[in-house]
Amino acid sequence: MFCIGNSLKLGSRLGTRCIASLSSLPETHQMLQKTCRDFADNELVPNAAKFDREHLFPAEQISKMGELGLMAIAVKEEFGGTGLDYLAYAIAMEEISRGCASCGVIMSVNNSLYLGPILHFGNQTQKETFGTPYTYGTHIGCFALSEPGNGSDAAAAQTTAKLEGDKWILNGTKNWITNGRDAGAAVVFATTDKSLKHKGISAFIVPKGSPGFSYGKNEDKLGIRGSTTCSLIFEDCAIPKDHMLGEPGSGFKIAMKTLDEGRIGIAAQALGIAQASLECAVDYANKRIAFGKPISKLQSIQNKIADMSLKLESARLLTWRAAVLKDSKKPFTKEAAMAKLAASETATFNSHQAIQILGGMGYVSDMPAERHYRDARITEIYEGTSEIQRLVIAGAVIKEMS
Ligand SMILES: Cc1cc2nc3c(=O)[nH]c(=O)nc-3n(C[C@H](O)[C@H](O)[C@H](O)COP(=O)(O)OP(=O)(O)OC[C@H]3O[C@@H](n4cnc5c(N)ncnc54)[C@H](O)[C@@H]3O)c2cc1C
Repeated sequence: MFCIGNSLKLGSRLGTRCIASLSSLPETHQMLQKTCRDFADNELVPNAAKFDREHLFPAEQISKMGELGLMAIAVKEEFGGTGLDYLAYAIAMEEISRGCASCGVIMSVNNSLYLGPILHFGNQTQKETFGTPYTYGTHIGCFALSEPGNGSDAAAAQTTAKLEGDKWILNGTKNWITNGRDAGAAVVFATTDKSLKHKGISAFIVPKGSPGFSYGKNEDKLGIRGSTTCSLIFEDCAIPKDHMLGEPGSGFKIAMKTLDEGRIGIAAQALGIAQASLECAVDYANKRIAFGKPISKLQSIQNKIADMSLKLESARLLTWRAAVLKDSKKPFTKEAAMAKLAASETATFNSHQAIQILGGMGYVSDMPAERHYRDARITEIYEGTSEIQRLVIAGAVIKEMS
C-alpha cells in the first residue's frame, strides 16, 4: 500500500519532469499516471486552446477518457467503474487537467460530484440505473447545490420538493451547474421543510427531460470554457417518488460528504494547471535569450521557478495525503480543505509567475500561459471558496486543540 512517508523521497524522473515520490507509488498508479500523461499530450494539449477559444465541449475526448476508465476511477467494477482508489483519481485528475483544465472539471464532476453520491447513498436500482451508465464516458452527470441566492451558504437552499401522490414536485433554480446542459441526470438538493433549515434538505435524482425541467443560458466564463455551466430551472418538475437519494432530510449531509471528496479532485485539477504553468515557464526560459544568455540563467527567473516548484510539490503532497486518508477510511475533511486551498492558490501563483517569465508572450493566446491563468482562477471559487476552506481548516484545528 502507498505510504505517505515514502512520498518524501524526491527525484523520480519520468519523462521530462520530476515528480515527488512517483517511484514510491504502486505500479498500478505509475502506469495510470503514464497512460494519462500520454493521453493528455496526444489528445488534450493539441486541442485545449480550441476548446477554450470556441467554447467547445470536448465530447470526443470525454468519450475516449471513458474508454480509458477515467470517468469512474474509484467506482467499484461491479457498477462499471475502474475499481481504483482516490489516490489514483488524484493522479489521473492532475494529468488530465495538465492537458486541459476543462476536461479535468468535466471528469471531476462526473467522478466525485455525480457518481460519488449515487454510489454512496443510492439503492441498488438507483446505482444500476443512474450509476453504471455514467461510468463509460457515454453519459455524464451533474451536481446541483448552488442557487442564485446562496452558494457558500448551501443550507439556505430555496428550491422546494413536495410529495404529491407518487411524484416529487420540484420548484426553484440551481445556478452555475457544471455539465448542466450535457448531463443525462442531475443530483439536485431541495428542501421538503424550510422550517427545519439544513435538516429539511433532501437529495433527488432528476433525469434530463423530466417534465418541468429546463435550462438557463450557458455562462460566458473567464476560464474552463470547454466545460458548460448553466442554471437548471424546475417549474413543477415531476419526478418519480423513488428518485429520492438517501434518507429524507439527509441531503445536506450528502452534499457535505460529496464536497469533501470533490475537493480532492479540484485540488488535483489545480495541480495540473500549476504543473502546466511551470513546464511552460521553464521551457520558455531555456529558449528566450536576453542580454546574451537564456533568461533561465538569471537569478530573478530562477527564484520564481524555485518558488513555483516548492508550492507545487507541497500542494501535491497535501493532495495525496488527503486521498490516502480517504482511501484508509480515516477522517479527511480538514486535509481535503488544506489540499484544495494550497493547490488552488498554487495554480493561481504559478500561472501568474509563468506569465511574468514569458513577458509579452505570456499575455497573448499564442502561448498557453494566459489560458492557464484564466483556468486557475475558478479553482479558488468552486466546491467552496478559499475563504470557506479557511473556515473549515480553522474550525477543525481549534476543535482538535481545545
Ligand atoms: C464555473 C463555475 C462552476 C460551478 N459549478 C458548480 C456545480 O457544478 N454545482 C454547484 O452546485 N455549484 C457550482 N458552482 C458554484 C460555486 O460552488 C459557488 O460559486 C461558490 O460556492 C461560491 O458561492 P457564490 O458564488 O454564491 O458566492 P458567495 O457565497 O456569495 O460568496 C461571495 C464571497 O463571500 C465570501 N464568503 C461567503 N460566506 C463567507 C463566510 N462565511 N466567511 C467568509 N467569507 C465568506 C466568499 O468566499 C466569496 O469571496 C460553480 C461556480 C462556477 C463559477
